[in-house]
Amino acid sequence: MSERERIVALDKRRVWHPYAAMDEYRASDPLVVVRAKGARLFDADGRSYLDANSSWWVASLGHDHPRLVAALKRQADLNCHSALAGMTHPAAAELAEALCRVAPAGLEHVFYSDDGSTAVEVALKLALQYWAQNGRPERRRFVALEDAFHGETLGATAVGGVELFRRPFVGALAGCTHLPSPAGPAGAAGALESLAKVLEAESDRVAALVVEPVVQGAAGMRIHDPAFLRGARELCDAHDVFLVCDEVFTGYGRTGPMWASEHAGIAPDVLCTGKGFSGGMLPMAATLATGRIFAGFLGSRERAFHYGHSFCGNPLGAAVALEVLRVYAEEQILERARGKAERIARAFAGMASLPGVASVRSIGMIGALDLAGDAGYLARSGWRVAEEARRRGAYLRPLGNVIYVTPPLNIPDDELDLLLSIVGESVEAVGRG
Ligand code: PMP
Repeated sequence: MSERERIVALDKRRVWHPYAAMDEYRASDPLVVVRAKGARLFDADGRSYLDANSSWWVASLGHDHPRLVAALKRQADLNCHSALAGMTHPAAAELAEALCRVAPAGLEHVFYSDDGSTAVEVALKLALQYWAQNGRPERRRFVALEDAFHGETLGATAVGGVELFRRPFVGALAGCTHLPSPAGPAGAAGALESLAKVLEAESDRVAALVVEPVVQGAAGMRIHDPAFLRGARELCDAHDVFLVCDEVFTGYGRTGPMWASEHAGIAPDVLCTGKGFSGGMLPMAATLATGRIFAGFLGSRERAFHYGHSFCGNPLGAAVALEVLRVYAEEQILERARGKAERIARAFAGMASLPGVASVRSIGMIGALDLAGDAGYLARSGWRVAEEARRRGAYLRPLGNVIYVTPPLNIPDDELDLLLSIVGESVEAVGRG
């Protein structure tokens, strides 16, 4: 038995994989990644694969960026972890300041947590507790979008709108009204009309509207008109309901600007960031809130936010996240990604005419296409394309019948072109049957 086979056997015996039908997984031959660098994953068998989805959308600066690795090592020599329990450390303080400087206007306070789900959980609890102790205790519900994805914890599942992921937990979830997605047939205007009606009828009971701005990622890279976000901001203001933007996926330039809410020229009351926030190197996330929300937790000990994870503000994560912001500024990541985004847009537009392709779309460093036939997360067609891509040297992770790329923002042009041509060839191979 080779070393690779030994690892696969151990894995299949013991590891329960996320989002995996384990009987199917056990019948598969998984990649065994022993090293990752830039846009590439290196398998134990010596082959390498272009990582089309930046390892679940986190490695926005590529794997093992040398500056991030150096920052991690420097911090590890000083302090791997000390809690934020009544004390602080330089990386947490510096990072919060740097983050607020690049955040949409009015977001002035940073609450750290571990991942995208907990960043959303914090947002939900902040909204509920704010209203509970600031004169509107009946505001216990949320409004969110159909097809939304906000994470794995129960609160995040409650505001999520992908039916398959909610179904096992129905009856155990916080109250949430789901609006038709602005990316669906209703469009931005239809979704806004529904929002206006819901807020008219029940804003007295609504703590916050929670949205993925401009792109619903997990639902299949569904892009909508930023007019929805602009209208939503106005309606939330009119009814004094908080607007929470979950920028866990869309933040850090994934859609072009630093934050997707910039497409609409608005600022939310609460912003969640994760994934690329720590360069995809460490589990680390943050929830940013306005001065008004922060002030609503002052005045007495009972009014404090009694919430905090062991690893809140972890120094390793904070040091790396701070270096991420420096790299974005000094290596002009957003500016340089513009030309790469155009390459993605051109390539996906070209794939529209391939056999078996129903539709294509792109925004920033996201390109996606729908394969014709069965739709939804359980559709099989995407997996056949992923197998073809693997043979050609790329790792794709489809969302059912949706094939997409979300490569590192700094992927070299030649590797990006290679990835895009592998996607096209793989789609074509499956389309021709
Ligand atoms: N929000 C959004 C928009 C996401 O796409 C995700 C993860 N795909 C999450 C929250 C949850 O993040 P995590 O997996 O880091 O908990």
